Amino acid sequence: MSMYDPLIQTSAGENQPYPTSYWADVSGTPPKNNGQLSEDLDSDVVIIGAGYTGLSCALHLAKEHNIKATVLEANQTAWGCSGRNAGFILKSTGRKPWSAMSSQWGEEVMRGIYSEVCQGVETVNELINQGIDCQVQDPGYIRVAHKPSMMKSLSVQAKLLEKTFGYQVEQLTRADIHQDYMADENAHGALRFNDGYGINPLKLAWGYQQLAQQAGATVHCGTPVNQWFAENNKQVLITPKAKVTAKKVIIATNGYTPKGFHLSVANRTLPVLSQIIVTEPLSAEQLAACNFITSNVVMDTRALKYYYRKLPDNRILFGGRGAITGKSADDPYYAKRLLSVLKQSFPALQNLQYQYAWSGWICMSLDDIPHINSAEDNDNVLYAMGYCGNGVSFAVQAGKRLADKAAGKDLPNLPLFNSQLPKFPLPALRRVGQWGYFHYGKIKDQYF
Ligand SMILES: Cc1cc2nc3c(=O)[nH]c(=O)nc-3n(C[C@H](O)[C@H](O)[C@H](O)COP(=O)(O)OP(=O)(O)OC[C@H]3O[C@@H](n4cnc5c(N)ncnc54)[C@H](O)[C@@H]3O)c2cc1C
Repeated sequence: MSMYDPLIQTSAGENQPYPTSYWADVSGTPPKNNGQLSEDLDSDVVIIGAGYTGLSCALHLAKEHNIKATVLEANQTAWGCSGRNAGFILKSTGRKPWSAMSSQWGEEVMRGIYSEVCQGVETVNELINQGIDCQVQDPGYIRVAHKPSMMKSLSVQAKLLEKTFGYQVEQLTRADIHQDYMADENAHGALRFNDGYGINPLKLAWGYQQLAQQAGATVHCGTPVNQWFAENNKQVLITPKAKVTAKKVIIATNGYTPKGFHLSVANRTLPVLSQIIVTEPLSAEQLAACNFITSNVVMDTRALKYYYRKLPDNRILFGGRGAITGKSADDPYYAKRLLSVLKQSFPALQNLQYQYAWSGWICMSLDDIPHINSAEDNDNVLYAMGYCGNGVSFAVQAGKRLADKAAGKDLPNLPLFNSQLPKFPLPALRRVGQWGYFHYGKIKDQYF
């Protein structure tokens, strides 16, 4: 069966089970949600999508603005990216480098955006500290240079971070990495940020759901919004068993937004598959053979990035780009390709197999930054999307800002909040552009 493809299909499904994944296998039983909506409802604020964005929005609406929102989720809590990701908590979002922000918008705007991403990580830390059991691992994020020449630009980045934000980043040589973290043959130096870390992403989302419900929100799984129209100044949402009317509707469907879902976001995003494999657990000998000491989260400097981490049960989670279409998402070619790159990094693991493989739709925006805003022509429809595969921590901040905006508060004057998601110039050709970018990225990673 082919995977749901948001550029082709007009529905994300109804009450679909979680995809087979390591997270779905190790996380136990989901907390109780409020079940499929079966009676018509009128609510001040309705949120569509129960990933991190929707759940954070519901939680902050209740906690900070005393608005008890209704969350409608087509399938299960965190059925989309939030339950499928690599679980890297990082102080960043989007794909636009700090230096490009500074030259395009000036230093004050860059600092404003940095403050938003830091607040995202702080809020995640606070929420986890309220008792979310999500298998937090030792702090540390290692950004490895996949070629010796990349160390130069990493050094420049480290200097900029220190000078501009006072953010202390450690520089590691290849020998440091091999001796103290892991003997990755593809690592030619690295920056180490001591405040990134790995978590179980599905359990994190379940924790947010519980906090949102405790604060007064309701979360209805198995409740896709199949039709949407406006009537007498109200938004009307049609779900399989019930009609919902709302003053305000928040779109938190991100990379899983179905084709033609709402004009405010149509043709403004490009869903791209990111793929993960999880290996069998490494034996003590295998760990020793590649000196795999660290459980820090690791990402490289390629245009088409690879990322990995050692999980609490000594498996390796390894990720990178996946197929281009939903139809080919489950082709084992992509999982095998990841395994072979893993083995290039760690030649001692030649006999290692993978036990899980899955993928998910990350959400690219044309200008490489997320946008959190109300629709161009309607203050009662709001959205947050376009984290470009970098949203585990930022989605929480985006949800919080959505809540502020829905409650009538002004947001900081930043491109994240004061501009719309730009339209793709030739939306029908988005996949062709992606194919071109993948080929360009492959050449860039090899030769430059
Ligand atoms: C393989 C992979 C690895 C990643 N790794 C990382 C990482 O390590 N660190 C990081 O920062 N980011 C990572 N990301 C990105 C991160 O997971 C996302 O940015 C984040 O989870 C987005 O959350 P969200 O709530 O906005 O959207 P989602 O979690 O995608 O939620 C959208 C929800 O909307 C629902 N929906 C869609 N249509 C409807 C409808 N009509 N009615 C009702 N519900 C609907 C869907 O069912 C879905 O549950 C990764 C993504 C992938 C795919």
